[in-house]
Amino acid sequence: MSAKNTGVHNVMEGFVFTRIDEIYNSIQKEKKSGSEKYKNFCCCAQCRIDAACYVLNRTKPHYIASGRGVIRTFHDSFERQQIMTDISISAYKAIEMISRNNRRPECNHELCEGEAENAKEVFFYDVPAVVGRVLNGSSFTPMFDVKIELLSAGNLVKMRNENWQNPCDLVKDMEGTYTFWPEAEETEKPGEEKNFNYTIKIEAPGYETVNYNFSISSKSVTNSYRGFSITEAYKINDIYLFHV
Ligand SMILES: [Zn+2]
Repeated sequence: MSAKNTGVHNVMEGFVFTRIDEIYNSIQKEKKSGSEKYKNFCCCAQCRIDAACYVLNRTKPHYIASGRGVIRTFHDSFERQQIMTDISISAYKAIEMISRNNRRPECNHELCEGEAENAKEVFFYDVPAVVGRVLNGSSFTPMFDVKIELLSAGNLVKMRNENWQNPCDLVKDMEGTYTFWPEAEETEKPGEEKNFNYTIKIEAPGYETVNYNFSISSKSVTNSYRGFSITEAYKINDIYLFHV
Protein backbone atom coordinates (compact mmCIF):
# COMPACT_ATOMS: atom_id res chain seq x y z
CA MET A 1 0.00 0.00 0.00
CA SER A 2 1.31 3.46 -0.77
CA ALA A 3 1.53 6.16 1.86
CA LYS A 4 0.96 8.98 -0.61
CA ASN A 5 -0.02 12.30 0.81
CA THR A 6 -3.56 11.28 1.60
CA GLY A 7 -4.88 11.68 5.06
CA VAL A 8 -1.69 13.00 6.63
CA HIS A 9 -2.05 16.37 8.26
CA ASN A 10 0.09 18.79 10.25
CA VAL A 11 -2.14 19.77 13.18
CA MET A 12 -0.01 22.87 13.79
CA GLU A 13 -1.49 24.52 10.70
CA GLY A 14 -4.87 24.95 12.32
CA PHE A 15 -3.41 26.38 15.51
CA VAL A 16 -1.16 28.80 13.65
CA PHE A 17 -3.80 30.11 11.25
CA THR A 18 -6.25 30.60 14.13
CA ARG A 19 -3.78 32.51 16.23
CA ILE A 20 -2.54 34.67 13.33
CA ASP A 21 -6.13 35.58 12.43
CA GLU A 22 -7.00 36.41 16.03
CA ILE A 23 -4.04 38.76 16.37
CA TYR A 24 -4.64 40.43 12.99
CA ASN A 25 -8.33 40.87 13.76
CA SER A 26 -7.56 42.64 17.01
CA ILE A 27 -4.99 44.85 15.27
CA GLN A 28 -7.54 45.66 12.59
CA LYS A 29 -10.11 46.57 15.23
CA GLU A 30 -7.68 48.87 16.97
CA LYS A 31 -6.70 50.52 13.68
CA LYS A 32 -10.35 51.13 12.86
CA SER A 33 -10.89 52.78 16.23
CA GLY A 34 -8.31 55.39 15.14
CA SER A 35 -5.36 54.17 17.20
CA GLU A 36 -1.96 55.20 15.84
CA LYS A 37 -0.20 52.27 17.45
CA TYR A 38 -0.59 49.91 14.48
CA LYS A 39 -0.62 52.58 11.77
CA ASN A 40 1.95 50.74 9.64
CA PHE A 41 0.57 47.26 10.13
CA CYS A 42 -1.05 45.72 7.09
CA CYS A 43 -3.85 43.22 7.79
CA CYS A 44 -4.46 42.01 4.24
CA ALA A 45 -4.89 38.35 3.35
CA GLN A 46 -1.45 38.08 1.74
CA CYS A 47 0.32 39.42 4.84
CA ARG A 48 -1.65 36.98 7.01
CA ILE A 49 -0.55 34.04 4.89
CA ASP A 50 3.06 35.25 4.90
CA ALA A 51 2.97 35.55 8.70
CA ALA A 52 1.48 32.05 9.04
CA CYS A 53 4.21 30.59 6.80
CA TYR A 54 6.87 32.35 8.86
CA VAL A 55 5.53 30.73 12.03
CA LEU A 56 4.97 27.29 10.48
CA ASN A 57 8.53 27.23 9.13
CA ARG A 58 9.77 27.76 12.66
CA THR A 59 7.39 25.39 14.42
CA LYS A 60 8.00 21.69 14.77
CA PRO A 61 5.31 19.98 12.68
CA HIS A 62 3.03 17.50 14.37
CA TYR A 63 1.63 15.04 11.88
CA ILE A 64 -1.33 12.79 12.42
CA ALA A 65 -3.07 10.30 10.21
CA SER A 66 -6.69 10.95 9.37
CA GLY A 67 -9.00 10.28 12.26
CA ARG A 68 -6.24 8.73 14.34
CA GLY A 69 -4.17 10.01 17.17
CA VAL A 70 -6.09 13.22 17.63
CA ILE A 71 -6.97 12.27 21.16
CA ARG A 72 -3.41 11.33 21.94
CA THR A 73 -2.03 14.53 20.43
CA PHE A 74 -3.96 16.62 22.90
CA HIS A 75 -3.83 14.25 25.80
CA ASP A 76 -1.08 16.15 27.59
CA SER A 77 -2.70 19.52 28.21
CA PHE A 78 0.52 20.94 29.65
CA GLU A 79 2.36 20.19 26.45
CA ARG A 80 -0.49 21.71 24.47
CA GLN A 81 -0.39 24.88 26.57
CA GLN A 82 3.33 25.17 25.93
CA ILE A 83 2.85 24.73 22.18
CA MET A 84 0.14 27.40 22.10
CA THR A 85 2.35 29.84 24.02
CA ASP A 86 5.24 29.25 21.61
CA ILE A 87 2.95 29.81 18.64
CA SER A 88 1.68 33.08 20.10
CA ILE A 89 5.18 34.42 20.69
CA SER A 90 6.27 33.40 17.22
CA ALA A 91 3.10 34.88 15.68
CA TYR A 92 3.65 38.31 17.23
CA LYS A 93 7.22 38.27 16.02
CA ALA A 94 6.14 37.32 12.49
CA ILE A 95 3.43 39.98 12.28
CA GLU A 96 5.69 42.71 13.48
CA MET A 97 8.47 41.68 11.11
CA ILE A 98 6.23 41.38 8.05
CA SER A 99 4.54 44.69 8.78
CA ARG A 100 7.80 46.56 9.26
CA ASN A 101 9.97 45.37 6.44
CA ASN A 102 8.81 42.30 4.67
CA ARG A 103 5.65 43.26 2.86
CA ARG A 104 5.51 41.80 -0.59
CA PRO A 105 6.20 44.66 -2.97
CA GLU A 106 4.26 43.09 -5.85
CA CYS A 107 1.04 42.90 -3.87
CA ASN A 108 -1.23 45.92 -3.65
CA HIS A 109 -1.74 45.91 0.12
CA GLU A 110 -4.01 48.94 0.26
CA LEU A 111 -6.32 47.27 -2.18
CA CYS A 112 -6.44 43.89 -0.48
CA GLU A 113 -6.87 45.46 2.92
CA GLY A 114 -9.71 47.61 1.62
CA GLU A 115 -11.29 44.53 0.12
CA ALA A 116 -10.92 42.63 3.36
CA GLU A 117 -12.69 45.42 5.23
CA ASN A 118 -15.50 45.67 2.74
CA ALA A 119 -15.91 41.94 2.48
CA LYS A 120 -19.26 40.63 3.63
CA GLU A 121 -18.99 39.22 7.09
CA VAL A 122 -19.74 35.51 7.28
CA PHE A 123 -21.30 33.72 10.22
CA PHE A 124 -21.22 30.07 11.20
CA TYR A 125 -22.75 27.55 13.51
CA ASP A 126 -19.47 26.33 14.88
CA VAL A 127 -20.52 22.89 16.11
CA PRO A 128 -17.92 21.41 18.47
CA ALA A 129 -16.16 18.11 17.95
CA VAL A 130 -17.98 15.05 19.29
CA VAL A 131 -16.06 12.60 21.45
CA GLY A 132 -17.13 9.31 23.00
CA ARG A 133 -16.18 5.73 23.86
CA VAL A 134 -17.52 2.35 22.86
CA LEU A 135 -17.15 -0.43 25.42
CA ASN A 136 -17.98 -4.10 25.55
CA GLY A 137 -21.19 -4.47 27.61
CA SER A 138 -20.07 -7.62 29.41
CA SER A 139 -16.35 -7.03 29.98
CA PHE A 140 -16.35 -3.18 30.04
CA THR A 141 -13.23 -3.23 27.85
CA PRO A 142 -12.77 -0.87 24.88
CA MET A 143 -14.22 -2.18 21.63
CA PHE A 144 -12.42 -2.37 18.30
CA ASP A 145 -13.23 -3.55 14.77
CA VAL A 146 -16.31 -1.39 15.05
CA LYS A 147 -17.83 0.90 12.43
CA ILE A 148 -19.22 4.19 13.72
CA GLU A 149 -21.24 6.68 11.72
CA LEU A 150 -22.39 10.18 12.60
CA LEU A 151 -25.73 10.72 10.90
CA SER A 152 -28.08 13.65 10.51
CA ALA A 153 -31.55 12.86 9.13
CA GLY A 154 -30.18 9.52 7.96
CA ASN A 155 -27.23 10.99 6.05
CA LEU A 156 -23.54 10.90 6.91
CA VAL A 157 -22.53 14.26 8.40
CA LYS A 158 -19.78 16.05 6.46
CA MET A 159 -16.64 16.52 8.51
CA ARG A 160 -14.73 19.75 9.08
CA ASN A 161 -11.56 18.59 7.37
CA GLU A 162 -9.58 15.53 6.34
CA ASN A 163 -8.55 14.71 9.92
CA TRP A 164 -11.96 13.29 10.60
CA GLN A 165 -13.48 10.33 8.87
CA ASN A 166 -17.14 9.51 8.75
CA PRO A 167 -17.72 6.58 9.00
CA CYS A 168 -14.92 6.03 11.45
CA ASP A 169 -13.43 2.56 11.98
CA LEU A 170 -12.40 1.87 15.55
CA VAL A 171 -9.10 0.01 15.60
CA LYS A 172 -7.37 -1.53 18.57
CA ASP A 173 -4.98 1.30 19.49
CA MET A 174 -7.82 3.85 19.65
CA GLU A 175 -8.91 2.43 23.00
CA GLY A 176 -12.58 2.58 22.12
CA THR A 177 -12.49 6.34 21.56
CA TYR A 178 -13.99 8.00 18.50
CA THR A 179 -14.14 11.65 17.47
CA PHE A 180 -16.16 13.47 14.84
CA TRP A 181 -15.99 17.12 13.97
CA PRO A 182 -18.96 18.26 11.89
CA GLU A 183 -18.45 20.92 9.25
CA ALA A 184 -19.43 24.44 10.34
CA GLU A 185 -22.70 25.63 8.79
CA GLU A 186 -22.91 29.09 7.27
CA THR A 187 -25.73 31.41 8.30
CA GLU A 188 -26.84 35.05 7.93
CA LYS A 189 -26.67 36.51 11.40
CA PRO A 190 -24.54 36.22 14.54
CA GLY A 191 -25.95 35.06 17.87
CA GLU A 192 -28.67 32.84 16.42
CA GLU A 193 -29.27 29.51 18.07
CA LYS A 194 -29.90 26.24 16.29
CA ASN A 195 -30.24 22.63 17.41
CA PHE A 196 -28.31 20.04 15.47
CA ASN A 197 -29.82 16.58 15.79
CA TYR A 198 -27.47 13.69 15.31
CA THR A 199 -27.47 9.91 15.51
CA ILE A 200 -24.41 7.84 16.26
CA LYS A 201 -24.79 4.45 14.62
CA ILE A 202 -22.47 1.70 15.84
CA GLU A 203 -22.09 -1.63 14.06
CA ALA A 204 -19.84 -4.54 14.97
CA PRO A 205 -20.10 -8.14 13.75
CA GLY A 206 -21.77 -10.32 16.39
CA TYR A 207 -23.06 -7.34 18.38
CA GLU A 208 -26.37 -5.53 18.47
CA THR A 209 -26.40 -2.36 16.39
CA VAL A 210 -26.75 0.78 18.47
CA ASN A 211 -28.41 4.02 17.36
CA TYR A 212 -27.73 6.80 19.85
CA ASN A 213 -29.58 10.09 19.34
CA PHE A 214 -28.46 13.41 20.74
CA SER A 215 -28.62 17.08 19.86
CA ILE A 216 -26.15 19.93 20.17
CA SER A 217 -27.27 23.51 20.42
CA SER A 218 -24.99 25.98 18.66
CA LYS A 219 -24.92 29.76 18.52
CA SER A 220 -23.76 31.38 15.28
CA VAL A 221 -20.45 33.22 15.50
CA THR A 222 -18.38 35.30 13.17
CA ASN A 223 -16.03 33.51 10.82
CA SER A 224 -12.85 32.17 12.32
CA TYR A 225 -10.59 29.25 11.57
CA ARG A 226 -10.61 27.49 14.90
CA GLY A 227 -8.24 24.75 15.92
CA PHE A 228 -9.54 21.52 17.32
CA SER A 229 -9.97 21.68 21.07
CA ILE A 230 -10.59 18.58 23.10
CA THR A 231 -11.69 20.69 26.08
CA GLU A 232 -14.48 22.24 24.01
CA ALA A 233 -15.57 18.91 22.56
CA TYR A 234 -19.10 17.60 23.16
CA LYS A 235 -18.72 14.45 25.23
CA ILE A 236 -21.07 11.52 24.74
CA ASN A 237 -21.66 9.04 27.55
CA ASP A 238 -19.95 5.67 27.12
CA ILE A 239 -21.88 3.38 24.81
CA TYR A 240 -21.96 -0.37 25.55
CA LEU A 241 -22.24 -3.07 22.94
CA PHE A 242 -23.88 -6.42 23.71
CA HIS A 243 -23.64 -9.72 21.87
CA VAL A 244 -26.60 -10.56 19.67
ZN1 LIG B 1 -0.56 43.27 3.26
